Amino acid sequence: MSDFQQTATGDLPGIVVTGASGRMGQMLIRLILDSDQARLVGALERPGHAWIGRDLGEAMGGAACGVPVSDDAVAVIAQAQAVIDFTAPAATVAFAELTAQARAVHVIGTTGLEPADLARLAAAARHAPIIRAGNMSLGVNLLVGLTRKVAAALGEDWDIEVVEAHHRMKVDAPSGTALMLGEAAAEGRGAQLADLRTPAREGITGARTAGSIGFSAIRGGDIVGEHDVIFAGTGERLILRHVATDRAIFARGAIRAALWGQDKGPGEYDMADVLGLS
Ligand code: NAP
Repeated sequence: MSDFQQTATGDLPGIVVTGASGRMGQMLIRLILDSDQARLVGALERPGHAWIGRDLGEAMGGAACGVPVSDDAVAVIAQAQAVIDFTAPAATVAFAELTAQARAVHVIGTTGLEPADLARLAAAARHAPIIRAGNMSLGVNLLVGLTRKVAAALGEDWDIEVVEAHHRMKVDAPSGTALMLGEAAAEGRGAQLADLRTPAREGITGARTAGSIGFSAIRGGDIVGEHDVIFAGTGERLILRHVATDRAIFARGAIRAALWGQDKGPGEYDMADVLGLS
């Protein structure tokens, strides 16, 4: 696969990858080039990036693949049936608006989006499908459902804590996945996470508030992503755990979402919809 030749031929959905040089961007590109269900039709990076104008395959250290890296988002997205976007919140919101104008599917893996960003995504989703998930893996999306069920089954005397670990380069905390798990736990208790979430603890915090949901983040090395949901009762503890060992699981989920979205109408979707878990 190091020759980066496109496997697919014919009339398959054309996918554009944003943040082409990033960890997830490069993983997505390898998998799309190797796919027989989709074609890579474009790769975007930010203006001024060293890869702009170069052949993508060559920039990734292999042979030419015929797809140039571009910073012209309007022209590149116009050729796409789907855009897969694992970048940063400001870039993702701008890409979402262009993708919606092109009536293409936008798959968003970017985390750390603020309420104002989400409002702009909701506006863009009035024109085309947007599929967004803080975690694109099957295992984590199953864990979300399990967390909701266990939280509903156990009373408030079981304290809920979400502990996550990621690589040293990750810029946001808690992770998007940790927040998905916290939201599921809150839903299981018939509440909103915003009302139960405990800020990061340090110093004299006082005793734990009954019914609250706490978050802790570990950052180090090359950890792909680990999440524990701890239900701590009196005399016993239940721990639900997911460990990701290869970020290809997120890229495969995103490609699956891009293909799933092809016949969907405008609106906001998540991986539970894609995986039929809703
Ligand atoms: P990364 O290695 O830093 O990659 C991000 C890429 O986006 C970089 O190449 C960056 O370019 C590029 N970028 C930033 N702004 C841009 C713009 N305006 N136009 C074009 N490209 C732009 O990070 P990563 O590990 O791949 O993660 C990216 C995001 O995905 C993070 O939010 C992460 O939390 C999330 N993520 C989600 C999942 C999931 O399953 N949902 C899984 C893994 C990661 P520069 O290097 O020039 O800044």
